[in-house]
Amino acid sequence: MVVDTIERVAVLGAGSMGHGIAEVAALGGYDVTLRDVEADLVRDGYESIEWSLEKLEEKGQIDESARSVLDRIDTATELEAAVHDADLVVEAAPEKMALKREIFADLDELAPADAILATNTSSLSITEISEATDRPGRVVGTHFFNPPVKMDLVEVVYGDHTADGTAETAAAWAESIDKTPIFVRKDVNGFVVNNVLVPFMAEAAWMLSADETEVREADAAMVFRRGYPMGPFELADFTGIDIGYHARKEAGRPIPPVWKEKVESGHLGKKSGRGYYDHEDGEGVDYEHGQGEGFDTLRIEARMVNEAAKLVGAGVAPPEEIDVGMRLGGGFAEGVCRMADKRGLDAIHEKLASLYEETGEARYEPADYLRERVEAGHTGEAAGEGFYDYSHGGPYHYLAHELDDDGVLRVTFEREERLNAFNDDMLAEVDRLLGEVDTEEVSCVVFEGSGGTFSAGADLTAFPTAEPRDMMDVDDVFRTVYEFERPTLAKIDGYCLGAGFELALACDMRVATEDAAFGTPEIDLGVIPGGGATQRLVRLVGEVRTKELVFRGNHVDAETAADWGVINRAVPAGEFDDVVDDYVEDLVSGPPVALKVAKKVINDGQDASLETALNLESQGFGLLVSTDDMLEGVTAFRDDREPEFEGE
Ligand code: NAD
Repeated sequence: MVVDTIERVAVLGAGSMGHGIAEVAALGGYDVTLRDVEADLVRDGYESIEWSLEKLEEKGQIDESARSVLDRIDTATELEAAVHDADLVVEAAPEKMALKREIFADLDELAPADAILATNTSSLSITEISEATDRPGRVVGTHFFNPPVKMDLVEVVYGDHTADGTAETAAAWAESIDKTPIFVRKDVNGFVVNNVLVPFMAEAAWMLSADETEVREADAAMVFRRGYPMGPFELADFTGIDIGYHARKEAGRPIPPVWKEKVESGHLGKKSGRGYYDHEDGEGVDYEHGQGEGFDTLRIEARMVNEAAKLVGAGVAPPEEIDVGMRLGGGFAEGVCRMADKRGLDAIHEKLASLYEETGEARYEPADYLRERVEAGHTGEAAGEGFYDYSHGGPYHYLAHELDDDGVLRVTFEREERLNAFNDDMLAEVDRLLGEVDTEEVSCVVFEGSGGTFSAGADLTAFPTAEPRDMMDVDDVFRTVYEFERPTLAKIDGYCLGAGFELALACDMRVATEDAAFGTPEIDLGVIPGGGATQRLVRLVGEVRTKELVFRGNHVDAETAADWGVINRAVPAGEFDDVVDDYVEDLVSGPPVALKVAKKVINDGQDASLETALNLESQGFGLLVSTDDMLEGVTAFRDDREPEFEGE
């Protein structure tokens, strides 16, 4: 879906970010002009796009040919040619205020009067850039993450003058090119993600500078004990130690001594071959499980939470948006506000307050918002309220759900950044949602995954930290799905593995695209499928095939899965929605009571002797012959019309 008011997009700067932004804009269906100051620079950018699109085409990740996407991209070296008919201009030139102001002043002259002028700056003031124009209300930040083709997040940043309509159109445009926007409602340095993420690296660097930790200790602790995708030093090596150093220097903020040492000795991280780790001559990143046992993980997390609290308190962004930002922009397994609510805001506040008292360093001073929450007793999930309100169970972070007028409950897994892998919260949300809905209102449930994949399994980051008891709770969730009183259908695209497969098996029916892949890869992790799959699968496809799937841990394609009876149908992608709609239509128009009884009798009967099962069936049958629905069914059959069941 393209945004009505935007047809032509101009991207200024064909460097790392500019070419990526041009590529995603063209992929989203827009006509794009890519501009740089020299012909060879634009050509390099264009060729990078070409290369990337060909890769996407090869991997079957785009619906059209690379060529047809490229056909939507023009190049230019003259600014006027690039922007004279643009509805949106995204500037991705080097990070220098004077240059950006010059570009925006020119844009004001050359771009149509109603065009939106956006900047991809990571650290400069949107307000100051906007004031180089006579239309500051139409200037906005659209902060993409690197590389734009892979990273889903766009921070839509307000300057002091940005009109709501401008920010909203920019956000709608970002959504229309398949990105997830979050609003940064005030022009604060570092916006949302960098403000929260930088202390992750900086606090570890302060600790290292004061000999309070070692590189491998901190990294092992944050990764293996707390589930972060990278350790703080590993991440700094990956992003470049100089980036944080220069940003702080420019902002006149204190710099951890170890950053200064590294930058002065040219050890900037991976790009220079050496940073905290030796990437060229040494082992590279080489911390190990068990090295982080004594490390104070709360200290690092408290600093991130404090920054998040400042942002919430100042009205820059609410916890929901900060958390989405950290998941998509920081690659975190869960949002920082959600994590804080689990750890307890009181413990976090206490950690900060005592460090502040000890050192007097401003970075530890607890944010007003955090202090007020704690004083009000809103200390997190256990207290019923923290950053989030849990009085009604709390928000759904990983599921979207919608109950339509026909009673179809559509549940979408929304953890695209991890291929919809299940973490504890996501499982608990499935359980809670099915427990919360009024089954009388629901005709059937359809589960699907966002982003072209059903679910790639259980979130492995949770494995090293989980208690054996927690892991066993998984089964309860799938039992809730299996026993849900209404028919359930798994609408499967892409990966359907591990816990995702188990959830699909707990559904009554499974319809998949032909390119879906199924499997129970748990054996390769040294465990067995834990969500009932060993037992549901054996009942479904027998011992021989179950053992093959479980022992070998391989994927099977949709055709094989359909052949084996694991799924009901494998259909071409183009027919997928229609076929699922046909199934849903039958479930919606079917007699609710009979469907409920049929499900129960079929499910319960499987675990009983044939005699008992037949008894169950005849009891069910007996129950149904006295219903209004049966009378309606028989009458409609006689009258040769469609029945209208009331569920009575
Ligand atoms: P880059 O140096 O790779 O590319 C910048 C390009 O802009 C160069 O090709 C340069 O020739 C061109 N340029 C210079 N003056 C220009 C002008 N007047 N008009 C058009 N093009 C011009 O830089 P980058 O990494 O792509 O960063 C671009 C912007 O995006 C910066 O503001 C940066 O802070 C921001 N950003 C970068 C990243 C990242 O990880 N690289 C992430 C988010 C945001």
